[in-house]
Amino acid sequence: MADAKLLDGKALSRRIEKELKAEIQAFSGRAPCLAVVIVGTHAPSLIYVGKKQEACKRVGIDSKLFEVEETVNKKELKKLIESINKDHDIDGILVQLPLPQQISPLEVAEWIHHDKDVDGFNPINMGKLLMGSLSGFIPCTPLGVKKLLDEHHISVTGKHVVVLGRSNIVGKPMAALLTQINPGYDATVTVLHRNSPDLKNICKSADILIIAAGQPHLITGSMVKKGAVVVDVGITKVNNVSLDRSKVVGDVCFDEVKKVADYITPVPGGVGPMTIAMLLENCVKSYKRHHKIL
Ligand code: NAD
Repeated sequence: MADAKLLDGKALSRRIEKELKAEIQAFSGRAPCLAVVIVGTHAPSLIYVGKKQEACKRVGIDSKLFEVEETVNKKELKKLIESINKDHDIDGILVQLPLPQQISPLEVAEWIHHDKDVDGFNPINMGKLLMGSLSGFIPCTPLGVKKLLDEHHISVTGKHVVVLGRSNIVGKPMAALLTQINPGYDATVTVLHRNSPDLKNICKSADILIIAAGQPHLITGSMVKKGAVVVDVGITKVNNVSLDRSKVVGDVCFDEVKKVADYITPVPGGVGPMTIAMLLENCVKSYKRHHKIL
């Protein structure tokens, strides 16, 4: 049997960026602008923020970095976010996670105005998604996964999709998106998590398996149905002792699973670049709404 075909998020994200760049160049007036708030100096967060800002630059979105001390209190951070909410020259607000202990990500999601909530974590946007409206901002990772499947004409309709992980940023909105009552959606979704029994057999029953656990090598070849589609959201940095440097791995034993699945995402180069592309898309969506561009 031939190896699984790659769901190449890097290639698709490049194409999306090219299209966004052309669209932005045609706007009259100021460029779209994303506010990026980073609290503290958590090294991976600094890298993610840098990547997002570089992507903004590539397509012509301005980004404004707000660096906040690790020791910031709730009141101060809320005040900053409220001032960005009111700034008419800013279309989108992103607060990089994780946050220090004294700041609740749930509260931060509520402070960001839902009209500028390009990450889609505000309860209004999450609520819309849950209630069957796709008019709000949809969280970038689930949206990116759906685009990647669509690009390869992989329909989820009537399929059994297993989503492993129930976080607010990936697992839960992923399940909510795929169960929409809409043409092109309508999947039957099972959500698994750390306390789910019979993980192996349920994973093996999936037509489409989406894994977001942050546990390298969690999914082996024997947990995947022959011909399944496997989407690996996981990103974990591990040390490669022989090369004396670190590398990024997903949650899937790629070399085993590619022999069983029909489609698989690589890590890196699968879901990661799609997440960033969707952030850019959401930012342009917000700009167009603010400028009443249809
Ligand atoms: P999280 O830690 O908030 O949630 C992980 C989920 O996986 C939890 O629901 C947990 O119950 C479940 N889980 C963990 N270990 C498990 C196990 N052994 N068996 C069954 N369930 C298990 O994580 P998150 O924020 O959703 O991120 C998950 C992974 O995806 C991380 O590696 C993260 O870096 C990555 N991620 C990647 C992107 C991207 O753009 N590719 C975006 C967001 C998150």
